[in-house]
Amino acid sequence: MTKAVPFRVLCKLCNTVAESWHWSQVPEGHAEGLASCECGKVQSDSMGLGPDKGRILTEEPEENWKVITEVSITRHRDDT
Ligand SMILES: [Zn+2]
Repeated sequence: MTKAVPFRVLCKLCNTVAESWHWSQVPEGHAEGLASCECGKVQSDSMGLGPDKGRILTEEPEENWKVITEVSITRHRDDT
């Protein structure tokens, strides 16, 4: 089993995270591939190689987004 690690990019415009899972590692309940933040201005695309390996698709300047690498491997749950 490979360690599933999403590629996450925080959009500072809407303060949500575009979390992308590579197709080879996508856990159940998550969408695979390209992900978008809430306002849609920042998209991330995991390459499946780690938390800092992915593509960022945005026209926003770098000050408006941030790659989040300090993630835990454990699955996070946003449904409580
Ligand atoms: Zn956004």
